Amino acid sequence: MMLDQLNHAVTPRIASILENALAGREMSVDDATLLLDAEGADFHLLLRAADWAREQDCGDDVSYVVCRNINFTNVCYVGCSFCGFARHKDDLAEAYDHPMEVLVEKCRDAIARGASEVCIQGGIHPNKDHGHYREILETIRAAFPKLHIHAFSPEEMDFGHRKSGMALDEYLGWLVDAGLGTMPGTAAEILDDEIRDVLSPKKLKSARWEEIVRTAHGIGLRSSSTLMYGHIEERRHIAAHLGLLREIQKDTGGFTEFVPLGFIHERNMLYNYMGARPGPSMSEDLRMIAVSRLFLRPHITNIQVSWVKMGHKLGQMALMAGANDFGGTLMEESISRESGSQHGENTTAEEFRRLIRECGRVPVERSTLYGTIQRFDDPALDPPSLEPAPAVELSGPARFREPRAVREPKVAAG
Ligand code: SF4
Repeated sequence: MMLDQLNHAVTPRIASILENALAGREMSVDDATLLLDAEGADFHLLLRAADWAREQDCGDDVSYVVCRNINFTNVCYVGCSFCGFARHKDDLAEAYDHPMEVLVEKCRDAIARGASEVCIQGGIHPNKDHGHYREILETIRAAFPKLHIHAFSPEEMDFGHRKSGMALDEYLGWLVDAGLGTMPGTAAEILDDEIRDVLSPKKLKSARWEEIVRTAHGIGLRSSSTLMYGHIEERRHIAAHLGLLREIQKDTGGFTEFVPLGFIHERNMLYNYMGARPGPSMSEDLRMIAVSRLFLRPHITNIQVSWVKMGHKLGQMALMAGANDFGGTLMEESISRESGSQHGENTTAEEFRRLIRECGRVPVERSTLYGTIQRFDDPALDPPSLEPAPAVELSGPARFREPRAVREPKVAAG
């Protein structure tokens, strides 16, 4: 088969949608729905087009952030059907509710391992209130004033706000005054109440998610944006969700990035008892990244790969299908792990740089707000990771790695 025969295999309608997207014309929600079904030659051209758009929008840099996830409690009564993380507060064997000293220790450890950010989220604990969220921020800021605090999903914001009695903008500003730097755009799942009523009937509705995000952006509190796919949704729900995010971004400019999150199915009600699909296939993952790039440009230009959901190798493929960011080191990921993810709790900065270089791209350590902390142009000059080297079991004659040099942390404690 000659190359022009391959090109002729592309459906004219798909070719036209891609042509428009590459020319910078805004894609409709209906066209995005069509692309989310692309197969065969259409699928390959979609990925190639998204990769080309990524190069135009972001160049060859691939960014990552050195950060630590801290889940301060796993006690939660919201009861989302896709969640394997939440516990009842009387589950003495598995429920936890970390005191402030533990949170401070986790931040101290994160800084010693090179972190510029902590991402703090927890369950909706019935005995907590807005004062608890503020105390977490004040405690961490007092101990580590330069550490960026990325904290509290719109669900947590909704819970704290309703207990506070304040106006929403006043409440969010009150948290910013206490040290909040940015807000995770999680708890979005699919922003369609028909779907949300199955996934999480007690969780905040789409309009409330949008209200919290728009209000946050309105006071200068920026956030990420997310979507969870591969469960009971249809393509049209994904496309409409992307459409809503694009409208919010046009109005506020407050999203830092978009992170598609594949559903992890192993240990939850949604898959085991409610007939959901077992998460996205590889081609769905790649289509999701590619369509996000083409649909959201030029409004949201950072498209992030979730290595926790995809794993490293598929994550590398996603970097060749429209993504420009590899997310965070996380150090202590537990929410996806407890739902059955097999991709680990931590990816070191050193590992990110290797994975990125294997794709022929340039690693860049970034801040939460996508400022450049360090660009690693020359592989020979890569610094050693601050992470401890993983323990290796050797069965034959022992061979030892050179110990890694230790450098000063970037963020000074206290
Ligand atoms: S996803 Fe979050 S809000 Fe829902 S049950 Fe789990 S911890 Fe609670």
